[in-house]
Amino acid sequence: MKFGGTSVADIDRIRNVARHVKREVDAGHDVAVVVSAMAGKTNELVAWCRDASALHDAREYDAVVASGEQVTAGLLAIVLQSIGVTARSWQGWQIPIVTSHAHGAARILGIDGDELIKRFKERKEVAVIAGFQGIHKESGRVTTLGRGGSDTSAVAIAAAIHADRCDIYTDVDGVYTTDPRVVPKARRLDKIAFEEMLELASLGAKVMQVRSVELGMVHKVRIFVRSSFEKPEDIDPMSNHPPGTLICDEEEIVEQQVVTGIAFSKDEAQISIRRVQDKPGVAAAIFGPLAEASINVDMIVQNVSADGKTTDLTFTVPAADYQRSMDVIGKARDTIGFDRIDGASDVAKVSVIGIGMRSHAGVAAQAFKALADRNINIRAITTSEIKFSVLIDAAYTELAVRTLHALYGLDK
Ligand code: ADP
Ligand code: ASP
Ligand code: MG
Repeated sequence: MKFGGTSVADIDRIRNVARHVKREVDAGHDVAVVVSAMAGKTNELVAWCRDASALHDAREYDAVVASGEQVTAGLLAIVLQSIGVTARSWQGWQIPIVTSHAHGAARILGIDGDELIKRFKERKEVAVIAGFQGIHKESGRVTTLGRGGSDTSAVAIAAAIHADRCDIYTDVDGVYTTDPRVVPKARRLDKIAFEEMLELASLGAKVMQVRSVELGMVHKVRIFVRSSFEKPEDIDPMSNHPPGTLICDEEEIVEQQVVTGIAFSKDEAQISIRRVQDKPGVAAAIFGPLAEASINVDMIVQNVSADGKTTDLTFTVPAADYQRSMDVIGKARDTIGFDRIDGASDVAKVSVIGIGMRSHAGVAAQAFKALADRNINIRAITTSEIKFSVLIDAAYTELAVRTLHALYGLDK
């Protein structure tokens, strides 16, 4: 069972979480619980680090931001004990959850679940685990897994203890066709395939961290997204159908829609390089230095030159890397050879996802027409087997998402 920030926002909510846990324990299940920091806590800790020094040591950033989860794990263990449930809290290093040394964005390398399993057997002890954090073995330093990383802790723990299921309790009762906070007509999906959830998460839906879905897919963990706000007493722990969304293999999904969901991200910036030399090696001269600076380039559009000499090249980068990218390209100006650079950071990427696209033609074409009818200009397009994305002005994001949601029959 994993509980996100809003679900543990204060002591009352932690009491509510404890009742969910007790329900499962009373039903005879062995339970490991992964908790996030209280809502807003991680943001506060991140801001404190920036405030202390804009350029700070990533190891110390992790020492600071990992503390939020330590608090909730201890508090939940206390509350569980107070209602008669045997429980013990665990920080990442105590299990240990071994990770890479990439501080701030570490990857889990391995978890030994034996001690937790032994305690289930011998003492019926609930393990309350601080999410988001681990340890880099060689240096012995605390690491964190990137924002939203408690989802990944939960799926990794589920795999390590061979759990029957990994329940992600959050502030919505499942995965919706798009963000329900933006489109009130969004519908809850009963099931979604790992591949689709991976795209939805990568393309902006923050309901699950991308890495957690990857792990679930590789280790075949059945992930069930559900609400922590339902009354714990109203739920039958033996029921196979509580409200929620199962993330599972494609084969388990009987009725497949062409389009499953729509994601969006305003965290994009567009860079256009005007009148670039149209000759071999130019793309390498542009994208090589960006790669060296660890900047992830996403969409790329290159025109065919009209005069055989120069062309325009447009690409997108994460908004946070916008200024750095402009600097990198500026520095490489002599090797690239171009007229000028234009950029825009008030852009958004809207993506349509569905496994059904593999076998249906014209899905994207419908979207282009619908967006044109609303006078929404498309700045760039990318497509792949089960998704396509369009880059538009950020001001039209909500309109575009609602338009496409209705177009593909996803409205209630
Ligand atoms: P937690 O703190 O429990 O980890 P998050 O805030 O990380 O919760 O994720 C839940 C939020 O994700 C929801 O409140 C919702 O606004 C947002 N969200 C975005 N896209 C979707 C989607 N397709 N389905 C459900 N929720 C979504
Ligand atoms: N508390 C961390 C964050 O806010 C991890 C998580 O909640 O999943 O990013
Ligand atoms: Mg989250």
